[in-house]
Amino acid sequence: MAKLFVISGSSGVGKGTVINKFLSLHSDFKLSISCTTRKKRDGEQEGINYYYLSNEDFQKSVKNNEFLEWAEFSGNYYGTKKDFVEKYLANGENLILEIDTKGALNVKKIMPESILIFIAPPSVEELEARLRGRHTETEDAIQKRLASIKLEIENSKQFDYKVINDTVENAVKKLEEIMLN
Ligand code: 5GP
Repeated sequence: MAKLFVISGSSGVGKGTVINKFLSLHSDFKLSISCTTRKKRDGEQEGINYYYLSNEDFQKSVKNNEFLEWAEFSGNYYGTKKDFVEKYLANGENLILEIDTKGALNVKKIMPESILIFIAPPSVEELEARLRGRHTETEDAIQKRLASIKLEIENSKQFDYKVINDTVENAVKKLEEIMLN
């Protein structure tokens, strides 16, 4: 039977790299495409990275109860459509949702059979050093990021599995142990 996996992890943890590597090795898993009201970034494509909606259309879908879950981050809305998830699972395809921890816990409430996986940094201290090493963000931005990472780690205590992203290879191997059984 097709399974639904929800993978969360703060940005800067390398979650995208780990998931993409896993997907490249396992073609019977698909990544869910969320809807968002945020602007398309360079290189992103409609229907590949996201479905880009206007605020109005997003709110309409909220009202019509079309989202399995949705959330707001820095003024933009993000949501997973119910029919998208249902269609894939009905087709027998394993689906991965890459969403934040709060969204993940909401999915678990509605679909208790979903499997929640948190991708964690080897240590918060190391992640902080990595963020500072990039020299691309202000102190204020780094502090905000660290606060959100700590909140995500707190939420992740309710997850089914935790995968430490020490190296991409190790993290992918751990995902395989969890997801291929
Ligand atoms: P970004 O704007 O960088 O693409 O994504 C910002 C955040 O939104 C990330 O933490 C990502 O995991 C989260 N996100 C993307 N799609 C969804 C969704 O459908 N639902 C929820 N709850 N979060 C999402």
